[in-house]
Amino acid sequence: MKQAIVIGGGLGGLAAAITLQHRGLQVTILEKNSHFGGKLMPVQLGSHYFDFGPNTITMPHIFKRVIEQTGERAEDYFELQRLSVHTRNIFSDGSHFDFTSSREDMLRQLAGCDPFAAKSYDAFLQEVQRLYELSEAHFLPRLFTSWRDYLSPSLGKALLQVRPLQSLDAFFRKYFRNENLLQAMNRYATYIGSSPYAAPATFAMIAHLELSEGVYYVKGGNARIAAAYAEVARKLGADLRPDTEVRSVLTENGQATGVVTADGETLRADVVVMNADLLRAYPELVEEEYRPHFSNAKAAGYEPSISAFVVLAGLKIRNEGLLHHNVFFSDDYQREFTELFANGGYAEHPTIYVCNSSYTDPSVSPDGDNLFILVNAPSTKKRQVHGQAEQYKEHIYDILESKGIRIREHLVTEKIIAPPDIESMFGAHKGALYGISSNKRANAFLRPFNRSQDIRNLYFVGGTTHPGGGSPMVTISGLNVGEAIAGKIF
Ligand SMILES: Cc1cc2nc3c(=O)[nH]c(=O)nc-3n(C[C@H](O)[C@H](O)[C@H](O)COP(=O)(O)OP(=O)(O)OC[C@H]3O[C@@H](n4cnc5c(N)ncnc54)[C@H](O)[C@@H]3O)c2cc1C
Repeated sequence: MKQAIVIGGGLGGLAAAITLQHRGLQVTILEKNSHFGGKLMPVQLGSHYFDFGPNTITMPHIFKRVIEQTGERAEDYFELQRLSVHTRNIFSDGSHFDFTSSREDMLRQLAGCDPFAAKSYDAFLQEVQRLYELSEAHFLPRLFTSWRDYLSPSLGKALLQVRPLQSLDAFFRKYFRNENLLQAMNRYATYIGSSPYAAPATFAMIAHLELSEGVYYVKGGNARIAAAYAEVARKLGADLRPDTEVRSVLTENGQATGVVTADGETLRADVVVMNADLLRAYPELVEEEYRPHFSNAKAAGYEPSISAFVVLAGLKIRNEGLLHHNVFFSDDYQREFTELFANGGYAEHPTIYVCNSSYTDPSVSPDGDNLFILVNAPSTKKRQVHGQAEQYKEHIYDILESKGIRIREHLVTEKIIAPPDIESMFGAHKGALYGISSNKRANAFLRPFNRSQDIRNLYFVGGTTHPGGGSPMVTISGLNVGEAIAGKIF
């Protein structure tokens, strides 16, 4: 039986492992943390449960596919619930707009605040659907293993059709006039850790996923997806080893032959899949002389996606004004992105996202709100801004309380997770949430390949490689790489 080692048990690694084990390889997953799921991490603080990481789940069929490919039913492992109103967008003038996948509800709200958009909404939905369908057909199922993969004529044609040269902001301005709404639409850029004023309009396909296909939540917490994957992988016979950090990848004659763990154990394998963020792990685990196509300078040249400043706050009350997903927008979105990307500092007037999953599922936090409060934050490239966690948290509480969200006097428990924590907990390059930013077109479309150019049988899955960051995308990368390896070996 061929042996495969997967370094890292994030969603990408788990999806690859299940695919490989199901297709007849013997898989060992080595994960440095004690939980599987990587950034999709369950956090329990007293009676308050939080999902750290992906709170907004789209593309449910992808998460189900990982299990269904083995012949099992995903429903037997986790229950996905579609949210009727998914995001309440609250603007600096006090008004709000609820995003929902009900076209009628969207049109009714648009008629009140943006009659132009009400007229163009159907055309908008059609165009974002077209963008998504092109990506689904030409980019998402494709493995990128070398430059040759970019030369496919069908891919080239599709690339020209997905608005690669237009910014997201310019695209949304064709359909919406109301500045508040534009801000809410532009926030989709943050789903790929990028700026709407720089990232290509291709990513407007995210609007299709949310506004037409819907936003989902997993009953009991989204981390149940990762727990289910770990259970399925074990059931299939994979060896899952938590608390096991890999220190180096072994190579012989230009081929990956195994790994050495932090405890000094050597494990041999026919193929190695790296799910650990490749911008950090590839340089750390493979000496530079063995990877001439991916020098340390090249790794350092990629712009990291944005990071996050997160506060988990458990309350003893339920705030009436909060839905499941809530966004409190700043009054100047453009300045916020300049502060994040150009200046590398925390935004002074940040947009604040608050997830309160106990709105949908009180069982995860029976005694009061479980607020996952997230503010976009710069990567850790510029370290000096990251020493002010307590003050920044207080600043965020001040803003939320000024908007009527009661926190301090009802606080039972809290925890701050800042960019340096994300960097160290998950081995994330510069604390990036989504690997590389898509602010430069080259980075959006020409990400590091799914296979090493220098070391045979060394593959990459996860947010930094193709097709990109975000929980469904990394899961797709695991499925694609697993299929490709299994297809090559058998
Ligand atoms: C705060 C936050 C909010 C987010 N919100 C959303 C959202 O709402 N929706 C969405 O779709 N996505 C969201 N994301 C992004 C999403 O979480 C990621 O894109 C995705 O989970 C990344 O999966 P991955 O498999 O690429 O990597 P990871 O989850 O980072 O997994 C990599 C694993 O490798 C392990 N590892 C690293 N180095 C080693 C080593 N040397 N040896 C062994 N193991 C190692 C790490 O511990 C980790 O478990 C969010 C992320 C964060 C942090």
